[in-house]
Amino acid sequence: MTTPQQFLITAESRILAEADIKENERPGGEDHSAHAPGRTCKACGEIIEPGQAARRRGESDWAHDVCPPQQAQPPQRGGQSG
Ligand SMILES: [Zn+2]
Repeated sequence: MTTPQQFLITAESRILAEADIKENERPGGEDHSAHAPGRTCKACGEIIEPGQAARRRGESDWAHDVCPPQQAQPPQRGGQSG
């Protein structure tokens, strides 16, 4: 017969065990590019947006992973008509 106290201890240890596994187990598909939203890109001087990958430059500087950042540009229209 399990006493309530034993149950609590068992539950707690189980939670600890799961936490330990989660700490070791990293979610897959994580790219190793960092993000630094709000930082100023050292290369181009633009603000690094939350969705943009960034890289550390030096001790505390940041720069876009892809600089200049790829922006959605409007499709270029050809001058030729016909
Ligand atoms: Zn940049």
